[in-house]
Amino acid sequence: MQFRIIRTTLNHVGKVIHTRDLTPRSRGIWYCRSCNNPLRLRWTHDSGGYFEHNLEETEELRLRHCEYQVIPQEKPVSAFEQAVNALMERDDTPSTGPSKKDYFCVLCQHEYYGLRGCPECRQHIYSTEMKLFDILTVPEKFAK
Ligand SMILES: [Zn+2]
Ligand SMILES: [Zn+2]
Repeated sequence: MQFRIIRTTLNHVGKVIHTRDLTPRSRGIWYCRSCNNPLRLRWTHDSGGYFEHNLEETEELRLRHCEYQVIPQEKPVSAFEQAVNALMERDDTPSTGPSKKDYFCVLCQHEYYGLRGCPECRQHIYSTEMKLFDILTVPEKFAK
């Protein structure tokens, strides 16, 4: 995981501290403003003071959602490509017609794929289109 340079932190009473208020000899307990994990103060000649996550004491689940994280991507993925990828991942998709979709019938709690019209109750008014949940997990894969 890679992180942007962190210049501000929360101290043990939740007050925002900037590295310019500190010296290389400052000691304290500091927390990330995004993920609340403990931070370590570093000091280099070139870039001055900055904070980095103290990985030994970090709760990894929260760190993965830290807003300071740089998510590497080989190239930007457009919404169109995401939709195409989602379709390709479904192996038994017949290539006919754009009207076939994943549906969920709220009356029968039944999931099905195809034309709108629940095979259980033979109604279509209770069916809603399934959201493409798998798109939301794409950044997780890139984060590895
Ligand atoms: Zn963080
Ligand atoms: Zn139904």
